[in-house]
Amino acid sequence: MSAQKSEKALEIVVFPMLSDNYGFLIHEPLTGATAVVDPAEAAPTLAACDARGWRLTHIFNTHHHGDHVGGNLDLKAKTGCTIVGPAYDRDRIPGLDIAVDEASGADLGNRHAKVFFVPGHTRGHIAYWFAEDAALFCGDTLFALGCGRLFEGTPAQMWQSLLKLRALPDETRVYCAHEYTQSNARFALAAEPENVALQQEVARVNAARAKGEFTIPSLLGREKACNPFLRADAPSLQAHFGGAGMKDADVLGAIRAAKDRF
Ligand code: ZN
Ligand code: FE
Repeated sequence: MSAQKSEKALEIVVFPMLSDNYGFLIHEPLTGATAVVDPAEAAPTLAACDARGWRLTHIFNTHHHGDHVGGNLDLKAKTGCTIVGPAYDRDRIPGLDIAVDEASGADLGNRHAKVFFVPGHTRGHIAYWFAEDAALFCGDTLFALGCGRLFEGTPAQMWQSLLKLRALPDETRVYCAHEYTQSNARFALAAEPENVALQQEVARVNAARAKGEFTIPSLLGREKACNPFLRADAPSLQAHFGGAGMKDADVLGAIRAAKDRF
């Protein structure tokens, strides 16, 4: 069983774009379907496909920001790929072909991704979860040791969104869209200095960056233990950022505000 499963496992490639964005290729080997998640630019996406002999068939967008959809129209013109993105933001996704939501999910070859509606960073942000492959593509909602800024949503929306992602299994690999981990780590340590798991994680992250390695994907189990934005209901963070009558979402808002000023 396990050998059979690995034979048809999704192949996932991480490649950098712009100054600190990551794009991800998802290749489904049985049908050859290949998606790029959040292509900031066309050229590095096509180069990553060419290096593996894969033909781009889909774009999966998480949200409308330019550093996530910048390559959409160029890639569609050059490859004829199908663009998949959030139904709630259908007017802000260039070239959108298939609008998806939590009810529809999203298809790639013989795989079906569950779609989570995760507003907060933007009002229509979604994440894609491939359960069999334990892979989560969450754009700018959840970062390694951080979360996205609240440009269009409220702390309550972001907290609900983060709770949806926190409910996934510990072994889930978190493919987030930016290499922000080291600066997130500095804030996380300031917010929760006594967290031993976090101290160990920061040492691991700093060692990886010193060698020029990507810190993405992260592991959800580690994020649950270390990421202050997934831990707004933890006693240590409530003691630091909470107060009388504050809900967990308010504490999340206070942590986010402190990070904005950090
Ligand atoms: Zn964004
Ligand atoms: Fe971004």
